[in-house]
Amino acid sequence: MPSRLPAVPQPVTSPPSSGARHDTTALLRGATASTYADTVRAVADDVAARLVSVTQPFSGASRPELQGLVDAVDLDGPPSGTREALREAADLYARHAIWFHEPTYTAHLNCPVALPAVGAETMLAAINTSVDTYDQSTVATLMERRLVEWTAGRIGFAVGGGDGADGVFTSGGTQSNFQALFLAREKARRAGVALESMRILATAASHFSIAKSALLLGLPDDAVVAVGVDAKGRMCPDALGDALVDTERTGDTVIAVVATAGTTDRGCIDPLGPVADLCDAVGTWLHVDAAYGCGLLVSTTRRHLLDGIERARSVTIDFHKSFFQPVSSSALIVRERRDLAPVAWHADYLNPREESGEPTPDINQVDKSLQTTRRFDALKLWVTLRALGPDGVGAMVDAVCDLAAAVRHDLATDPDFRVVGTTDLSTVLFRYQPDGLDAERADALVPQVRRVLFDSGRALVAKTVIDGRPCLKLTLLNPDATLADIRGVLELVRSAAHGLLAGEALAGTDEPPCRDVHPRLARTEGDAR
Ligand SMILES: *Cc1c(COP(=O)(O)O)cnc(C)c1O
Repeated sequence: MPSRLPAVPQPVTSPPSSGARHDTTALLRGATASTYADTVRAVADDVAARLVSVTQPFSGASRPELQGLVDAVDLDGPPSGTREALREAADLYARHAIWFHEPTYTAHLNCPVALPAVGAETMLAAINTSVDTYDQSTVATLMERRLVEWTAGRIGFAVGGGDGADGVFTSGGTQSNFQALFLAREKARRAGVALESMRILATAASHFSIAKSALLLGLPDDAVVAVGVDAKGRMCPDALGDALVDTERTGDTVIAVVATAGTTDRGCIDPLGPVADLCDAVGTWLHVDAAYGCGLLVSTTRRHLLDGIERARSVTIDFHKSFFQPVSSSALIVRERRDLAPVAWHADYLNPREESGEPTPDINQVDKSLQTTRRFDALKLWVTLRALGPDGVGAMVDAVCDLAAAVRHDLATDPDFRVVGTTDLSTVLFRYQPDGLDAERADALVPQVRRVLFDSGRALVAKTVIDGRPCLKLTLLNPDATLADIRGVLELVRSAAHGLLAGEALAGTDEPPCRDVHPRLARTEGDAR
Protein backbone atom coordinates (compact mmCIF):
# COMPACT_ATOMS: atom_id res chain seq x y z
CA MET A 1 0.00 0.00 0.00
CA PRO A 2 1.52 3.36 -0.98
CA SER A 3 2.23 5.58 1.96
CA ARG A 4 0.89 9.10 1.97
CA LEU A 5 3.36 10.12 4.63
CA PRO A 6 6.61 11.88 3.68
CA ALA A 7 9.91 10.07 4.24
CA VAL A 8 11.37 10.37 7.72
CA PRO A 9 14.11 13.06 7.69
CA GLN A 10 17.52 11.85 8.89
CA PRO A 11 19.05 13.77 11.82
CA VAL A 12 22.06 15.86 10.87
CA THR A 13 23.33 16.59 14.36
CA SER A 14 23.08 14.54 17.55
CA PRO A 15 20.68 15.89 20.17
CA PRO A 16 22.19 17.59 23.19
CA SER A 17 23.06 15.14 25.96
CA SER A 18 21.08 15.49 29.16
CA GLY A 19 24.08 14.49 31.21
CA ALA A 20 22.14 11.81 33.10
CA ARG A 21 23.29 8.29 32.34
CA HIS A 22 21.10 5.28 32.54
CA ASP A 23 21.52 1.60 31.83
CA THR A 24 20.59 1.25 28.18
CA THR A 25 20.30 -2.52 28.51
CA ALA A 26 17.59 -2.31 31.16
CA LEU A 27 14.57 -2.14 28.88
CA LEU A 28 13.10 -4.65 26.50
CA ARG A 29 13.80 -3.62 22.90
CA GLY A 30 15.53 -4.77 19.77
CA ALA A 31 19.02 -4.22 21.15
CA THR A 32 18.23 -6.34 24.22
CA ALA A 33 16.25 -9.02 22.39
CA SER A 34 18.77 -11.78 22.90
CA THR A 35 19.16 -10.89 26.59
CA TYR A 36 15.38 -11.03 26.80
CA ALA A 37 15.30 -14.51 25.34
CA ASP A 38 18.11 -15.67 27.62
CA THR A 39 16.39 -14.14 30.65
CA VAL A 40 13.05 -15.77 29.99
CA ARG A 41 14.76 -19.06 29.24
CA ALA A 42 16.71 -18.90 32.51
CA VAL A 43 13.53 -18.20 34.47
CA ALA A 44 11.71 -20.96 32.65
CA ASP A 45 14.58 -23.40 33.29
CA ASP A 46 14.55 -22.55 36.97
CA VAL A 47 10.79 -22.93 37.31
CA ALA A 48 10.94 -26.17 35.31
CA ALA A 49 13.60 -27.59 37.64
CA ARG A 50 11.44 -26.69 40.63
CA LEU A 51 8.38 -28.29 39.06
CA VAL A 52 10.35 -31.50 38.65
CA SER A 53 11.68 -31.54 42.21
CA VAL A 54 8.76 -30.13 44.18
CA THR A 55 7.09 -32.82 46.24
CA GLN A 56 4.60 -30.85 48.27
CA PRO A 57 2.52 -27.70 47.73
CA PHE A 58 4.33 -25.56 50.30
CA SER A 59 7.79 -25.48 51.85
CA GLY A 60 6.20 -25.30 55.29
CA ALA A 61 8.34 -22.32 56.27
CA SER A 62 6.92 -20.48 59.26
CA ARG A 63 5.55 -16.98 59.06
CA PRO A 64 8.42 -15.50 61.17
CA GLU A 65 10.94 -17.32 58.99
CA LEU A 66 9.39 -15.90 55.81
CA GLN A 67 9.14 -12.43 57.35
CA GLY A 68 12.83 -12.61 58.16
CA LEU A 69 13.72 -13.60 54.59
CA VAL A 70 11.60 -10.80 53.14
CA ASP A 71 12.95 -8.18 55.54
CA ALA A 72 16.54 -9.23 54.85
CA VAL A 73 16.36 -7.95 51.27
CA ASP A 74 17.62 -4.38 51.00
CA LEU A 75 15.46 -2.74 48.36
CA ASP A 76 17.68 0.36 48.44
CA GLY A 77 20.88 -1.65 48.21
CA PRO A 78 23.27 -1.72 45.26
CA PRO A 79 21.68 -3.18 42.11
CA SER A 80 22.57 -6.77 41.40
CA GLY A 81 21.59 -7.04 37.74
CA THR A 82 18.73 -8.95 36.14
CA ARG A 83 20.07 -12.47 36.50
CA GLU A 84 21.02 -12.17 40.14
CA ALA A 85 17.80 -10.34 41.06
CA LEU A 86 15.74 -13.08 39.48
CA ARG A 87 17.79 -15.76 41.17
CA GLU A 88 17.27 -14.07 44.52
CA ALA A 89 13.54 -13.71 43.87
CA ALA A 90 13.24 -17.36 42.90
CA ASP A 91 15.00 -18.41 46.06
CA LEU A 92 12.52 -16.36 48.04
CA TYR A 93 9.27 -16.49 46.11
CA ALA A 94 9.34 -19.65 44.02
CA ARG A 95 10.83 -21.64 46.86
CA HIS A 96 8.13 -20.68 49.33
CA ALA A 97 5.16 -20.17 47.03
CA ILE A 98 2.03 -22.29 47.18
CA TRP A 99 2.07 -24.63 44.18
CA PHE A 100 -1.46 -25.09 42.91
CA HIS A 101 -0.47 -27.84 40.49
CA GLU A 102 0.52 -30.20 43.29
CA PRO A 103 -2.23 -32.82 43.63
CA THR A 104 -2.21 -32.38 47.40
CA TYR A 105 -3.12 -28.70 47.03
CA THR A 106 -6.85 -28.92 47.61
CA ALA A 107 -7.65 -25.74 49.50
CA HIS A 108 -9.18 -22.89 47.53
CA LEU A 109 -10.50 -22.22 44.04
CA ASN A 110 -7.08 -22.23 42.40
CA CYS A 111 -6.46 -24.36 39.36
CA PRO A 112 -3.28 -25.63 37.78
CA VAL A 113 -2.67 -23.57 34.66
CA ALA A 114 -2.84 -24.68 31.05
CA LEU A 115 0.56 -24.72 29.33
CA PRO A 116 -0.60 -22.82 26.24
CA ALA A 117 -1.90 -20.08 28.52
CA VAL A 118 1.46 -19.78 30.27
CA GLY A 119 3.13 -19.43 26.88
CA ALA A 120 0.64 -16.73 25.98
CA GLU A 121 1.33 -14.99 29.28
CA THR A 122 4.98 -14.70 28.29
CA MET A 123 3.95 -13.12 25.00
CA LEU A 124 1.52 -10.62 26.47
CA ALA A 125 3.89 -9.67 29.29
CA ALA A 126 6.60 -8.76 26.78
CA ILE A 127 4.38 -6.93 24.31
CA ASN A 128 2.46 -5.31 27.15
CA THR A 129 -0.68 -4.36 25.26
CA SER A 130 -3.27 -2.36 27.14
CA VAL A 131 -6.73 -3.26 25.93
CA ASP A 132 -8.31 0.09 26.63
CA THR A 133 -8.48 1.97 23.35
CA TYR A 134 -8.25 0.53 19.88
CA ASP A 135 -5.24 2.67 19.11
CA GLN A 136 -3.31 0.97 21.93
CA SER A 137 -4.40 -2.55 21.18
CA THR A 138 -5.67 -2.99 17.60
CA VAL A 139 -5.96 -6.72 16.97
CA ALA A 140 -6.00 -7.48 20.69
CA THR A 141 -9.27 -5.58 20.99
CA LEU A 142 -10.68 -7.59 18.12
CA MET A 143 -9.51 -10.86 19.69
CA GLU A 144 -10.96 -9.97 23.09
CA ARG A 145 -14.27 -9.06 21.45
CA ARG A 146 -14.28 -12.36 19.61
CA LEU A 147 -13.79 -14.24 22.88
CA VAL A 148 -16.52 -12.23 24.57
CA GLU A 149 -18.82 -13.30 21.73
CA TRP A 150 -17.62 -16.88 22.02
CA THR A 151 -18.37 -16.92 25.74
CA ALA A 152 -21.75 -15.27 25.20
CA GLY A 153 -22.54 -17.90 22.57
CA ARG A 154 -21.66 -20.67 25.02
CA ILE A 155 -23.97 -19.08 27.57
CA GLY A 156 -26.71 -19.09 24.96
CA PHE A 157 -27.02 -15.34 24.47
CA ALA A 158 -27.82 -13.99 21.02
CA VAL A 159 -24.62 -12.59 19.53
CA GLY A 160 -23.62 -10.57 16.52
CA GLY A 161 -24.12 -6.85 16.72
CA GLY A 162 -27.40 -5.02 17.15
CA ASP A 163 -28.49 -5.40 20.71
CA GLY A 164 -26.92 -8.80 21.08
CA ALA A 165 -24.65 -9.79 23.92
CA ASP A 166 -21.49 -7.98 24.89
CA GLY A 167 -19.03 -7.89 27.73
CA VAL A 168 -15.49 -7.26 28.78
CA PHE A 169 -12.62 -9.06 30.41
CA THR A 170 -12.11 -8.13 34.05
CA SER A 171 -9.58 -8.75 36.80
CA GLY A 172 -11.74 -11.36 38.51
CA GLY A 173 -15.13 -12.48 39.68
CA THR A 174 -15.18 -9.79 42.34
CA GLN A 175 -14.85 -7.07 39.75
CA SER A 176 -17.33 -8.75 37.42
CA ASN A 177 -19.91 -8.99 40.19
CA PHE A 178 -19.29 -5.39 41.18
CA GLN A 179 -19.71 -4.18 37.62
CA ALA A 180 -22.89 -6.21 37.13
CA LEU A 181 -24.42 -4.77 40.28
CA PHE A 182 -23.30 -1.29 39.29
CA LEU A 183 -25.14 -1.69 35.99
CA ALA A 184 -28.24 -2.93 37.79
CA ARG A 185 -28.04 -0.07 40.27
CA GLU A 186 -27.67 2.48 37.49
CA LYS A 187 -30.66 1.09 35.65
CA ALA A 188 -32.74 1.47 38.80
CA ARG A 189 -31.29 4.83 39.79
CA ARG A 190 -31.94 6.29 36.36
CA ALA A 191 -35.51 5.04 36.66
CA GLY A 192 -35.86 7.12 39.84
CA VAL A 193 -35.30 4.50 42.52
CA ALA A 194 -33.58 5.93 45.61
CA LEU A 195 -30.42 4.20 46.85
CA GLU A 196 -31.96 3.70 50.31
CA SER A 197 -34.72 1.53 48.95
CA MET A 198 -32.58 -0.67 46.71
CA ARG A 199 -32.36 -4.35 47.59
CA ILE A 200 -30.39 -7.26 46.16
CA LEU A 201 -31.63 -10.80 46.69
CA ALA A 202 -29.12 -13.65 46.98
CA THR A 203 -28.59 -16.65 49.21
CA ALA A 204 -26.35 -16.48 52.25
CA ALA A 205 -23.95 -18.70 50.29
CA SER A 206 -23.45 -16.08 47.59
CA HIS A 207 -19.91 -14.79 47.27
CA PHE A 208 -18.95 -12.06 49.73
CA SER A 209 -18.25 -9.73 46.81
CA ILE A 210 -22.01 -9.31 46.44
CA ALA A 211 -22.39 -7.75 49.88
CA LYS A 212 -19.16 -5.81 49.45
CA SER A 213 -20.38 -4.45 46.10
CA ALA A 214 -23.60 -3.27 47.73
CA LEU A 215 -21.52 -1.32 50.23
CA LEU A 216 -19.30 0.17 47.53
CA LEU A 217 -22.37 1.12 45.51
CA GLY A 218 -23.73 3.16 48.39
CA LEU A 219 -26.62 0.86 49.16
CA PRO A 220 -27.89 0.59 52.73
CA ASP A 221 -26.30 -1.89 55.12
CA ASP A 222 -29.27 -4.22 54.91
CA ALA A 223 -29.50 -4.04 51.11
CA VAL A 224 -28.55 -7.66 50.48
CA VAL A 225 -31.45 -9.85 51.56
CA ALA A 226 -30.71 -13.52 52.18
CA VAL A 227 -33.09 -15.78 50.29
CA GLY A 228 -33.87 -19.16 51.85
CA VAL A 229 -32.26 -22.32 50.54
CA ASP A 230 -33.24 -25.96 50.26
CA ALA A 231 -31.54 -28.78 52.13
CA LYS A 232 -28.76 -28.84 49.53
CA GLY A 233 -28.03 -25.15 49.97
CA ARG A 234 -29.58 -24.01 46.68
CA MET A 235 -31.82 -20.99 46.39
CA CYS A 236 -35.39 -22.02 47.03
CA PRO A 237 -37.69 -20.58 44.32
CA ASP A 238 -40.61 -20.34 46.75
CA ALA A 239 -38.47 -18.38 49.17
CA LEU A 240 -37.35 -16.12 46.33
CA GLY A 241 -40.96 -15.53 45.34
CA ASP A 242 -41.80 -14.59 48.93
CA ALA A 243 -38.77 -12.33 49.20
CA LEU A 244 -39.72 -10.53 45.98
CA VAL A 245 -43.25 -9.95 47.24
CA ASP A 246 -42.09 -8.91 50.72
CA THR A 247 -39.57 -6.43 49.40
CA GLU A 248 -42.09 -4.73 47.16
CA ARG A 249 -44.63 -4.69 49.98
CA THR A 250 -42.30 -2.74 52.23
CA GLY A 251 -41.86 -0.19 49.45
CA ASP A 252 -38.34 -1.26 48.54
CA THR A 253 -37.14 -2.20 45.07
CA VAL A 254 -35.24 -5.33 44.12
CA ILE A 255 -32.59 -4.07 41.71
CA ALA A 256 -31.12 -7.52 41.12
CA VAL A 257 -31.42 -11.15 42.03
CA VAL A 258 -28.06 -12.90 42.18
CA ALA A 259 -28.12 -16.61 41.48
CA THR A 260 -24.87 -18.44 42.12
CA ALA A 261 -23.85 -21.10 39.61
CA GLY A 262 -21.40 -22.87 41.83
CA THR A 263 -21.22 -21.56 45.37
CA THR A 264 -17.71 -21.02 46.65
CA ASP A 265 -18.19 -23.43 49.55
CA ARG A 266 -20.35 -26.23 48.27
CA GLY A 267 -20.21 -25.84 44.51
CA CYS A 268 -24.01 -25.76 44.43
CA ILE A 269 -25.89 -24.29 41.51
CA ASP A 270 -29.04 -22.32 42.25
CA PRO A 271 -32.04 -23.44 40.12
CA LEU A 272 -31.45 -21.01 37.27
CA GLY A 273 -34.64 -21.70 35.25
CA PRO A 274 -37.14 -21.26 38.10
CA VAL A 275 -35.21 -18.23 39.39
CA ALA A 276 -35.31 -16.71 35.89
CA ASP A 277 -39.08 -17.33 35.72
CA LEU A 278 -39.57 -15.30 38.88
CA CYS A 279 -37.24 -12.52 37.76
CA ASP A 280 -38.99 -12.30 34.39
CA ALA A 281 -42.39 -12.17 36.08
CA VAL A 282 -41.45 -9.04 38.01
CA GLY A 283 -38.99 -7.62 35.49
CA THR A 284 -35.98 -7.87 37.78
CA TRP A 285 -32.36 -8.02 36.69
CA LEU A 286 -30.99 -11.56 37.06
CA HIS A 287 -27.25 -11.76 37.57
CA VAL A 288 -25.71 -15.22 37.51
CA ASP A 289 -22.41 -15.53 39.33
CA ALA A 290 -20.79 -18.42 37.49
CA ALA A 291 -17.27 -17.62 38.69
CA TYR A 292 -16.83 -21.24 39.72
CA GLY A 293 -19.40 -23.09 37.59
CA CYS A 294 -18.44 -21.48 34.28
CA GLY A 295 -16.26 -24.46 33.39
CA LEU A 296 -19.48 -26.36 32.72
CA LEU A 297 -19.96 -24.16 29.64
CA VAL A 298 -17.49 -26.46 27.89
CA SER A 299 -18.36 -29.72 29.63
CA THR A 300 -19.62 -32.34 27.22
CA THR A 301 -21.48 -34.22 29.95
CA ARG A 302 -22.67 -31.63 32.47
CA ARG A 303 -23.55 -28.53 30.45
CA HIS A 304 -27.23 -29.05 31.32
CA LEU A 305 -26.48 -28.07 34.93
CA LEU A 306 -26.28 -24.50 33.65
CA ASP A 307 -29.60 -24.62 31.80
CA GLY A 308 -31.35 -21.31 32.30
CA ILE A 309 -28.14 -19.27 32.46
CA GLU A 310 -29.07 -17.87 29.03
CA ARG A 311 -31.95 -16.08 30.72
CA ALA A 312 -29.66 -14.01 32.91
CA ARG A 313 -29.13 -10.37 32.15
CA SER A 314 -25.50 -10.53 33.22
CA VAL A 315 -23.09 -13.37 33.97
CA THR A 316 -19.79 -13.49 35.85
CA ILE A 317 -17.24 -15.85 34.36
CA ASP A 318 -13.91 -16.65 36.01
CA PHE A 319 -11.60 -18.27 33.51
CA HIS A 320 -8.96 -18.38 36.23
CA LYS A 321 -11.20 -20.57 38.37
CA SER A 322 -12.32 -23.30 36.02
CA PHE A 323 -10.77 -22.79 32.61
CA PHE A 324 -7.25 -23.48 33.90
CA GLN A 325 -6.12 -19.93 33.19
CA PRO A 326 -3.40 -18.05 35.02
CA VAL A 327 -4.58 -15.21 37.25
CA SER A 328 -6.07 -12.97 36.10
CA SER A 329 -8.67 -13.93 33.52
CA SER A 330 -12.30 -13.19 34.07
CA ALA A 331 -15.21 -11.61 32.24
CA LEU A 332 -18.54 -9.96 32.69
CA ILE A 333 -20.98 -10.87 29.93
CA VAL A 334 -24.30 -9.05 29.44
CA ARG A 335 -27.20 -10.27 27.36
CA GLU A 336 -27.89 -6.86 25.86
CA ARG A 337 -25.11 -4.58 24.73
CA ARG A 338 -26.88 -1.40 25.80
CA ASP A 339 -26.80 -2.51 29.44
CA LEU A 340 -23.07 -1.75 29.48
CA ALA A 341 -23.63 1.91 28.60
CA PRO A 342 -23.47 3.31 32.16
CA VAL A 343 -19.74 2.53 32.46
CA ALA A 344 -18.83 4.57 29.38
CA TRP A 345 -17.04 7.86 29.99
CA HIS A 346 -15.41 9.89 27.30
CA ALA A 347 -12.20 11.88 27.53
CA ASP A 348 -10.79 14.00 24.75
CA TYR A 349 -7.32 12.58 25.30
CA LEU A 350 -8.42 8.94 25.16
CA ASN A 351 -11.74 7.96 23.75
CA PRO A 352 -13.68 10.97 22.49
CA ARG A 353 -17.22 10.46 21.31
CA GLU A 354 -17.35 9.11 17.79
CA GLU A 355 -15.98 11.49 15.25
CA SER A 356 -18.49 11.75 12.47
CA GLY A 357 -17.40 10.71 9.02
CA GLU A 358 -14.89 8.07 10.25
CA PRO A 359 -15.17 5.04 8.00
CA THR A 360 -14.32 2.70 10.91
CA PRO A 361 -15.16 4.44 14.17
CA ASP A 362 -12.94 3.36 17.04
CA ILE A 363 -14.03 0.51 19.19
CA ASN A 364 -12.66 1.12 22.63
CA GLN A 365 -12.99 -1.60 25.23
CA VAL A 366 -12.38 1.06 27.90
CA ASP A 367 -15.93 2.21 27.20
CA LYS A 368 -17.17 -1.04 28.76
CA SER A 369 -14.69 -1.45 31.57
CA LEU A 370 -14.18 -0.19 35.10
CA GLN A 371 -10.46 -0.29 34.42
CA THR A 372 -8.53 1.91 32.02
CA THR A 373 -5.14 0.31 31.47
CA ARG A 374 -5.97 -3.37 31.27
CA ARG A 375 -4.01 -6.54 30.57
CA PHE A 376 -4.64 -8.55 27.42
CA ASP A 377 -5.63 -11.56 29.48
CA ALA A 378 -7.90 -12.77 26.71
CA LEU A 379 -4.86 -13.96 24.77
CA LYS A 380 -4.34 -16.78 27.26
CA LEU A 381 -7.83 -18.15 26.78
CA TRP A 382 -7.55 -17.69 23.03
CA VAL A 383 -4.39 -19.80 22.84
CA THR A 384 -5.82 -22.37 25.24
CA LEU A 385 -8.94 -22.86 23.14
CA ARG A 386 -6.87 -23.13 19.97
CA ALA A 387 -4.40 -25.54 21.57
CA LEU A 388 -6.72 -27.81 23.53
CA GLY A 389 -10.13 -27.13 22.04
CA PRO A 390 -13.22 -26.36 24.13
CA ASP A 391 -13.93 -30.06 24.54
CA GLY A 392 -10.41 -30.59 25.83
CA VAL A 393 -10.98 -27.99 28.55
CA GLY A 394 -14.43 -29.44 29.21
CA ALA A 395 -12.97 -32.91 29.72
CA MET A 396 -10.71 -31.48 32.44
CA VAL A 397 -13.72 -29.89 34.14
CA ASP A 398 -15.54 -33.22 34.01
CA ALA A 399 -12.48 -34.96 35.43
CA VAL A 400 -12.46 -32.82 38.58
CA CYS A 401 -16.21 -33.29 39.08
CA ASP A 402 -15.77 -37.06 38.71
CA LEU A 403 -12.87 -37.01 41.15
CA ALA A 404 -14.99 -35.17 43.73
CA ALA A 405 -17.72 -37.79 43.38
CA ALA A 406 -15.20 -40.60 43.94
CA VAL A 407 -13.71 -38.88 46.99
CA ARG A 408 -17.17 -38.35 48.49
CA HIS A 409 -17.92 -42.01 48.02
CA ASP A 410 -14.66 -42.91 49.76
CA LEU A 411 -15.41 -40.65 52.70
CA ALA A 412 -18.96 -41.89 53.02
CA THR A 413 -17.71 -45.42 53.58
CA ASP A 414 -14.98 -44.44 56.04
CA PRO A 415 -16.04 -44.62 59.70
CA ASP A 416 -13.63 -41.85 60.70
CA PHE A 417 -15.21 -39.26 58.42
CA ARG A 418 -18.55 -37.66 57.72
CA VAL A 419 -19.38 -36.07 54.40
CA VAL A 420 -21.19 -32.74 54.66
CA GLY A 421 -23.75 -31.81 52.02
CA THR A 422 -23.59 -32.39 48.29
CA THR A 423 -22.06 -30.60 45.33
CA ASP A 424 -22.79 -29.92 41.68
CA LEU A 425 -19.12 -29.29 40.98
CA SER A 426 -15.90 -30.37 42.63
CA THR A 427 -15.88 -29.47 46.31
CA VAL A 428 -15.89 -31.98 49.13
CA LEU A 429 -16.91 -30.90 52.62
CA PHE A 430 -16.27 -33.28 55.46
CA ARG A 431 -15.44 -33.68 59.11
CA TYR A 432 -13.20 -36.02 61.02
CA GLN A 433 -15.73 -37.45 63.41
CA PRO A 434 -15.53 -41.13 64.26
CA ASP A 435 -18.24 -42.60 66.45
CA GLY A 436 -17.62 -41.69 70.04
CA LEU A 437 -16.00 -38.33 69.31
CA ASP A 438 -18.36 -35.62 70.43
CA ALA A 439 -19.41 -32.93 68.00
CA GLU A 440 -17.77 -30.05 69.87
CA ARG A 441 -14.43 -31.82 69.88
CA ALA A 442 -14.85 -32.56 66.16
CA ASP A 443 -15.63 -28.87 65.62
CA ALA A 444 -12.44 -27.84 67.40
CA LEU A 445 -10.36 -30.29 65.37
CA VAL A 446 -11.26 -28.63 62.06
CA PRO A 447 -9.03 -25.55 62.31
CA GLN A 448 -6.37 -27.48 64.18
CA VAL A 449 -6.09 -30.15 61.50
CA ARG A 450 -5.97 -27.54 58.77
CA ARG A 451 -3.19 -25.75 60.62
CA VAL A 452 -1.12 -28.91 61.17
CA LEU A 453 -1.31 -29.70 57.46
CA PHE A 454 -0.49 -26.14 56.46
CA ASP A 455 2.50 -25.99 58.79
CA SER A 456 3.81 -29.24 57.35
CA GLY A 457 3.37 -28.00 53.78
CA ARG A 458 2.46 -31.56 52.78
CA ALA A 459 -1.15 -30.95 51.87
CA LEU A 460 -3.37 -27.90 51.93
CA VAL A 461 -7.04 -28.10 52.76
CA ALA A 462 -9.51 -25.32 53.51
CA LYS A 463 -12.13 -24.97 56.19
CA THR A 464 -15.52 -23.37 56.34
CA VAL A 465 -18.73 -23.39 58.32
CA ILE A 466 -21.85 -25.11 57.02
CA ASP A 467 -25.12 -24.85 58.94
CA GLY A 468 -23.26 -23.54 61.95
CA ARG A 469 -20.71 -26.36 62.07
CA PRO A 470 -17.09 -26.11 60.97
CA CYS A 471 -15.89 -28.56 58.37
CA LEU A 472 -12.88 -29.21 56.23
CA LYS A 473 -13.07 -28.48 52.56
CA LEU A 474 -11.36 -29.87 49.50
CA THR A 475 -11.70 -27.83 46.33
CA LEU A 476 -10.66 -30.22 43.59
CA LEU A 477 -9.57 -28.36 40.48
CA ASN A 478 -6.66 -30.49 39.38
CA PRO A 479 -7.73 -32.94 36.67
CA ASP A 480 -4.39 -34.74 36.96
CA ALA A 481 -4.89 -35.50 40.65
CA THR A 482 -5.82 -39.12 41.20
CA LEU A 483 -8.08 -40.69 43.77
CA ALA A 484 -4.90 -42.09 45.35
CA ASP A 485 -3.51 -38.56 45.67
CA ILE A 486 -6.59 -37.37 47.49
CA ARG A 487 -6.67 -40.50 49.63
CA GLY A 488 -3.15 -39.46 50.64
CA VAL A 489 -4.50 -36.08 51.74
CA LEU A 490 -7.24 -37.78 53.74
CA GLU A 491 -4.65 -40.00 55.43
CA LEU A 492 -2.76 -36.87 56.45
CA VAL A 493 -5.99 -35.45 57.85
CA ARG A 494 -6.58 -38.65 59.74
CA SER A 495 -3.08 -38.78 61.22
CA ALA A 496 -3.18 -35.11 62.11
CA ALA A 497 -6.46 -35.67 63.94
CA HIS A 498 -5.05 -38.73 65.71
CA GLY A 499 -1.96 -36.77 66.63
CA LEU A 500 -3.99 -33.89 68.00
CA LEU A 501 -6.23 -36.18 70.02
CA ALA A 502 -3.23 -38.10 71.30
CA GLY A 503 -1.48 -34.84 72.20
CA GLU A 504 -4.58 -33.85 74.10
CA ALA A 505 -4.64 -37.12 75.96
CA LEU A 506 -1.09 -36.35 76.97
CA ALA A 507 -1.93 -32.79 77.99
CA GLY A 508 -0.57 -31.90 81.38
CA THR A 509 2.51 -34.02 80.86
CA ASP A 510 5.70 -32.64 79.39
CA GLU A 511 5.06 -34.24 76.04
CA PRO A 512 5.90 -32.15 72.98
CA PRO A 513 3.09 -30.40 71.09
CA CYS A 514 1.03 -32.19 68.49
CA ARG A 515 3.12 -31.19 65.52
CA ASP A 516 5.96 -33.29 66.84
CA VAL A 517 3.69 -36.06 68.02
CA HIS A 518 3.21 -36.90 64.40
CA PRO A 519 6.56 -37.26 62.75
CA ARG A 520 4.91 -38.11 59.42
CA LEU A 521 3.75 -34.54 59.23
CA ALA A 522 6.91 -32.91 60.45
CA ARG A 523 8.40 -30.60 57.90
CA THR A 524 11.53 -31.97 56.33
CA GLU A 525 14.21 -29.40 55.72
CA GLY A 526 14.90 -29.09 52.02
CA ASP A 527 11.52 -30.22 50.78
CA ALA A 528 9.80 -28.32 48.08
CA ARG A 529 12.82 -26.45 46.86
C1 LIG B 1 -14.12 -16.85 43.58
C2 LIG B 1 -15.49 -16.36 43.44
C3 LIG B 1 -15.74 -15.01 43.17
C4 LIG B 1 -14.63 -13.98 43.17
O1 LIG B 1 -13.77 -14.15 42.10
P1 LIG B 1 -12.30 -13.53 42.13
O2 LIG B 1 -11.80 -13.90 40.79
O3 LIG B 1 -11.58 -14.21 43.25
O4 LIG B 1 -12.41 -12.07 42.33
C5 LIG B 1 -17.03 -14.61 42.93
N1 LIG B 1 -18.04 -15.50 43.01
C6 LIG B 1 -17.84 -16.80 43.29
C7 LIG B 1 -19.01 -17.73 43.35
C8 LIG B 1 -16.55 -17.28 43.52
O5 LIG B 1 -16.35 -18.56 43.85
